[in-house]
Amino acid sequence: MFCAIAAGQIPATRVLESDRTLAFRDLNPQAPTHVLVIPKEHHADVAALAKAGAGLLDELLAQAHEVARAEGVSETGYRVVFNTGADAGQTVPHAHAHVLGGRALTWPPG
Ligand code: AMP
Repeated sequence: MFCAIAAGQIPATRVLESDRTLAFRDLNPQAPTHVLVIPKEHHADVAALAKAGAGLLDELLAQAHEVARAEGVSETGYRVVFNTGADAGQTVPHAHAHVLGGRALTWPPG
């Protein structure tokens, strides 16, 4: 489904875009800033993305930090999360980083 967002076939509120990544707002935000950053190329999860190499995971993380800056939370603090697999609650099998901020975040997460 996130492939369809990357292709523009499903609407999303885009925040930042590069040749290989796209950042858009989460439909069900858990914090004032809740943005998802995906590789446009399909990888099922962050482990597959790491294996793919070619600097794509580095670029995705750099983009996540750029999102935090653009959202004004880079100074106040933010969290970058990759839910991976069932126990972590991954519901969409396309690698995505959650960028969360804009409020005090509890640790550990539930
Ligand atoms: P995860 O549980 O880590 O797989 O996260 C999937 C996230 O995608 C959830 O936070 C959903 O709210 C979000 N989500 C699902 N569909 C969409 C969509 N079409 N546009 C934006 N966010 C979405």
